[in-house]
Amino acid sequence: MRNVPKAFDDKFKSPQEGFDLLISQLGEFSEDELNAVKKAYEFASEAHKNQTRLSGEPYIMHPLAVSVIIASLGMDCASVIAAMLHDTVEDTGVTVEDIRTEFGETAAELVDGLTKIKNVPTKTEDAAEDAVWLDPTRVKQQQQAENIRKMLLAMNKDIRVIIVKLADRLHNMRTLMFKPEQRRREIALETIEIYAPIAHRLGIRPIKDELEDLSISYLDPVAYKEICDSLEKQSRSRREFLDDIQERIAVRAREIVPNAQVSGRIKSAHGIYRKMYMQNKNFDQIYDIYAVRIIVDTVIDCYNCLGIIHDMFTPIPGRFKDYISNPKANMYQSLHTTVLGREGIPFEVQIRTWEMHRTAEYGIAAHWKYKLGINGGNSDLDERRLSWVRQLLENQKDSEDVEDIVNTIKTDLVTEEVYVFTPKGEVFSMPMGSTVIDFAYAIHSEVGNKMVGAKVDGKIVPIDYKVNTGEIVEIITSSQQGKGPSRDWLNIVKTSQARSKIKQWYKREKREENIETGKAETEREFRRNFIRLTDEEFTPFLEKIAVRQHCKTVDDFYAAIGYGGISLTKLMPRIKEDYLKLTKLNEPPVIKPPVKKKTKSKEGVIVEGIDNCLIKFSRCCNPLPGDEIIGFITRGHGVSIHTRKCTNVPEDISEAAEPERWIKAYWDKNVKEEFKCTLQLTCLNRIGLLADISGMLANMHLNINEISTRPTKDGRVSIFLTVSLNGIEHLNTTVKKLEAIQGVLAIERTGI
Ligand code: MN
Repeated sequence: MRNVPKAFDDKFKSPQEGFDLLISQLGEFSEDELNAVKKAYEFASEAHKNQTRLSGEPYIMHPLAVSVIIASLGMDCASVIAAMLHDTVEDTGVTVEDIRTEFGETAAELVDGLTKIKNVPTKTEDAAEDAVWLDPTRVKQQQQAENIRKMLLAMNKDIRVIIVKLADRLHNMRTLMFKPEQRRREIALETIEIYAPIAHRLGIRPIKDELEDLSISYLDPVAYKEICDSLEKQSRSRREFLDDIQERIAVRAREIVPNAQVSGRIKSAHGIYRKMYMQNKNFDQIYDIYAVRIIVDTVIDCYNCLGIIHDMFTPIPGRFKDYISNPKANMYQSLHTTVLGREGIPFEVQIRTWEMHRTAEYGIAAHWKYKLGINGGNSDLDERRLSWVRQLLENQKDSEDVEDIVNTIKTDLVTEEVYVFTPKGEVFSMPMGSTVIDFAYAIHSEVGNKMVGAKVDGKIVPIDYKVNTGEIVEIITSSQQGKGPSRDWLNIVKTSQARSKIKQWYKREKREENIETGKAETEREFRRNFIRLTDEEFTPFLEKIAVRQHCKTVDDFYAAIGYGGISLTKLMPRIKEDYLKLTKLNEPPVIKPPVKKKTKSKEGVIVEGIDNCLIKFSRCCNPLPGDEIIGFITRGHGVSIHTRKCTNVPEDISEAAEPERWIKAYWDKNVKEEFKCTLQLTCLNRIGLLADISGMLANMHLNINEISTRPTKDGRVSIFLTVSLNGIEHLNTTVKKLEAIQGVLAIERTGI
């Protein structure tokens, strides 16, 4: 792990050492503030007194570490206190009220926000009662999505909440090795997909880099080690190379820009990983593993230094990027160029002002670090940096599908950007892979809605054309009324902004059509899933579902399906489950075996992935405990259980007409019930045969449910006997005893 570039020098071995380190970083805090931090430390130590982390360390080490990270970001007193107390409400008896009394309103609000983010229910609201058809991975996804939504809401209220949350995640990632393997991977994945992009968007580079590197080290340890080894191997020679170049640049630059500061840096392991595995380059092909950074006072000096660099070294064409005139979406600004050094070794040069540097390193946190205050300094910059939070929340409002937000973070936030121009020379930054439609909607929703085509650099392009940096894109619109976007566009567009605006248009303009489309889709899906309801049942059934989707009427529900706000296929499992419940209520119970005692698994059968569902034993084969069994999801009568060998069960399930309806089932180990079993006895008829048989069964305390006899053509007699048995062994002993009766020639269990 030694190659993870740790942003903060914050190792400590005991709480006292940690606290001293924390205080040493709070040089600019007033006496009162320091006292408050001390009080928070004592308060948290007391609250977590008897808790330890998985590492075995006292729990307080964690909030301390988080506070240290927050302090080194230069955050304010309330943030440091919130970091110290962030786990108290969740894990101990402390309440938000206690914190408000002891530490004031701001700290209490921050801790409250942090606690809310964490409080994801382990199951979706009412899932506890009816988790029957819910797939656990989907439940997990929904929880994650819900959690992210909460995070965005909290961020929108006070951005400090998310900064503390990022620090919390950072320390948890540093100590992830104490978790079991599976959890480690899950957490690492969530970190790289969600938390690192958020850190990136907020511009807090050290946290983003470390989160990414730590994630990769857990998700792909082999590749990670390879990169670290390569870096290690090359480090000395490259370091010398870099030192030499740095020196030469510094000398030349200072002739014109006297206080230019020149330094070198090594790309993060994750950055190298991305280039190696996503752009398929080998280690030596990555130009910017080593970079020289020049920091100057003014923008003019930046361009002056660029001139010097291009004069000293040969620039590689196509590698110059001017992020000063076109800042990245997270407001990152710098000039980037890659040049060839001695022996043809390429390296990257980044040139920026101190102010840009501040933004590049601390992002939104720079406000506190540099005492700009949330309303002071460049609040316009902050506004723009946070606008994506609002945008996300705004887009999400139109979508009833909470998972959209996860996808948005995964696409909008992670991808690189391209810069495209309008014919008037206005520049727009778009996620890579954006189409001309995305561009049209980025200009204005009306431009998107009226778009009929596009020209790129003067030439007509197809509507799914993906724009590239530097292209001039002209959107062709039509003023014809009511044409509007095509539904197919939803599958073409890349940005959530365009997607939600298209949906909005459909929602607004095409209500009648949407209702019709939605209704037709509902009917189709119901048919496909064998949901059959009478007319009286249908409306209340659908009303219930509509209310659950926050629709006021069934028509609203149809409309939402129609414009794509609700995905019916995603709702189907839950609807099927409702349907099962309904039919269970309305229909008389289907031929149930005599239930003697109730056990946990009703009927003594466990159906894979389903609890508490209606189970019936098929009449064709009357399964007995001990038989290999299989379940079949019937149309509205729960699951019917067959023996695996039953003639009604296809030999190869994958060849069955509806393979998805066959599900695995097992006997509960403690099955206590008795089951009916029908035996066919072929006998030589004699006086007293039936009496012998019934006498023997009485001796065995077996209950005869049914008995009938039928003469056969060859002068023998078939006796059909239905008895209650508790399993295969019971059956075997019974059969043996029956076979011993004089005249009984053969015994067969019917139905299998
Ligand atoms: Mn924590």
